[in-house]
Amino acid sequence: MHDPKNTLILIKKEIQEINPNSQLIVVTKTFGMSKILPIIETGHNHFGENKVQEAVEKWSTIKKTYPKIKLHMIGKLQTNKVKFAVQLFDYIHSVDNEKLAKKIADEQLKVNKKLKIFLQVNIGDENQKSGINKNNLDQLVSYCKEIELDVVGLMCIPPADINPENYFEEMKKLNNDFGFTELSMGMSSDFLLAIQHHSTYVRIGSSIFGERT
Ligand SMILES: *Cc1c(COP(=O)(O)O)cnc(C)c1O
Repeated sequence: MHDPKNTLILIKKEIQEINPNSQLIVVTKTFGMSKILPIIETGHNHFGENKVQEAVEKWSTIKKTYPKIKLHMIGKLQTNKVKFAVQLFDYIHSVDNEKLAKKIADEQLKVNKKLKIFLQVNIGDENQKSGINKNNLDQLVSYCKEIELDVVGLMCIPPADINPENYFEEMKKLNNDFGFTELSMGMSSDFLLAIQHHSTYVRIGSSIFGERT
């Protein structure tokens, strides 16, 4: 039978062999705490959710019980949810416009907290996808500096169903150009390739827990 704990250990070993500095984010969206707790109990600390409301319901209490847990917001973030996101999360991977960046900076000031921020790049230039166009990235990076957001790197979700290698390579170069130290890319299907292209945070859900329904 498929055991999430065994898969977790295997995946961590595979990551470790390529780049010991890469961090696994276990993506727990749609899964309940009964599935997640055994993973927490292995000592794993980094978890990702894509909806603020779901994350607040699932993690507010548990995070107090396990203070070492780091929560990553990996989904699209609406400005009216930023207040709750800033209170709960430690990282936001999906900042792609100035209005959202400013809202995060303002809310952080109110609660005296500073999250680590990734700027999401629409690397395949797809209409339906979130993320900033790479040609406008320069401006967003400057703006985030101005308002003192702690931007640690870039994030992407490359186009589905084609080999992501060229996109990963492009992201690696962009990240280097800006001098960022962290890079958020790679999911269940392509995380090893992403790490070979210097990803430092891979986001993995279904290969650990099984398919989401
Ligand atoms: C759901 C999700 C993941 C995890 O995807 P899997 O294919 O289940 O590993 C990674 N990143 C983002 C932004 C997601 O929404």
